[in-house]
Amino acid sequence: MIAVLKSGTTQEQKDHLLNWLKHMNLEVHVSNGKEFTILGLVGDTSKVDIDLLQSLEIVESVKRVSEPFKQANRKFHPNDTVVTCGNVKIGGGHFAMIAGPCSVESKDQIIQVAEAVKAYGGDVLRGGAFKPRTSPYAFQGLKDEGIQLLREAKKATGLPIITEIMNVRSLDLFEDVDIIQVGARNMQNFDLLQELGKTQKPILLKRGLANTLQELLMSAEYIMSEGNENIILCERGIRTYETYTRNTLDLSAIPVLHELSHLPVVVDPSHATGRSSLVHSMAVAAAAAGADGIMVEVHNDPAHALCDGAQSITPEQFNELNKMVTKVREVIR
Ligand code: PEP
Ligand code: MN
Repeated sequence: MIAVLKSGTTQEQKDHLLNWLKHMNLEVHVSNGKEFTILGLVGDTSKVDIDLLQSLEIVESVKRVSEPFKQANRKFHPNDTVVTCGNVKIGGGHFAMIAGPCSVESKDQIIQVAEAVKAYGGDVLRGGAFKPRTSPYAFQGLKDEGIQLLREAKKATGLPIITEIMNVRSLDLFEDVDIIQVGARNMQNFDLLQELGKTQKPILLKRGLANTLQELLMSAEYIMSEGNENIILCERGIRTYETYTRNTLDLSAIPVLHELSHLPVVVDPSHATGRSSLVHSMAVAAAAAGADGIMVEVHNDPAHALCDGAQSITPEQFNELNKMVTKVREVIR
């Protein structure tokens, strides 16, 4: 981190600031220029409050030269992280196709979809049991029963399961869940992230509706700083001024996250577009851009889905999508 001090700063003011910085275990290199003094701060600057430093009367400007995330940072961990759940691997050249309904609705529905996902080459079964809905009057998911039905679908097909957690209180219910999903709305629920950090479960962390990639990585850092390194990042579209699609899929997030971090990156074209007709092309584009996996909503009867029917594809469409994604991956490999 580099801090430039204003001209006219007295030696006493400088000493005061240097003492403060040294108390944070930072090494400070001072370069006295004709007009300005430049301080080079070396060490773990992640604890420095950049806004506070910037606000000091004698400080002209402050710039970070290294990112505030450490454990998620590729600079300190050059090799790709491979997250393993059962016999499925994600990252470092391993690709996973995650598919299933937005929400678990009944035993018949989840078993039917699970069997289709398996038959058409899916690797992991998704299904929401706890649903974060914009309206409190909308279907909120089958909750505990939904997790039980997912377990049955896992038993019937052998597919690992992923489902969303909404709060720390229900963590015990997730024992048999292979990947715990943190939804977009909870990306900055720091208490939840820290609790998940104390487990060794793979966590799929979705980007918030209006969060930057650095904020996503800082949320991953919350989990990692508690000891859990099994994190999969997920781009699921961000809110922009465009209204035709539900969100705007930020495809550039894939190479950016790969540059900045060693964690695998999965793309969810269903929530990104909100329209089933767009899911196929965005899944293919994400695979072409180097995603480590795709997560799509598949329903056996989208017109009657209790949640997100408009963006759900049928099992047959999933079959086509999976074949095309596989082809694209062969080409880019
Ligand atoms: C989901 O995947 O079921 C979901 C609610 O997605 P998001 O958190 O991205 O809106
Ligand atoms: Mn959904």
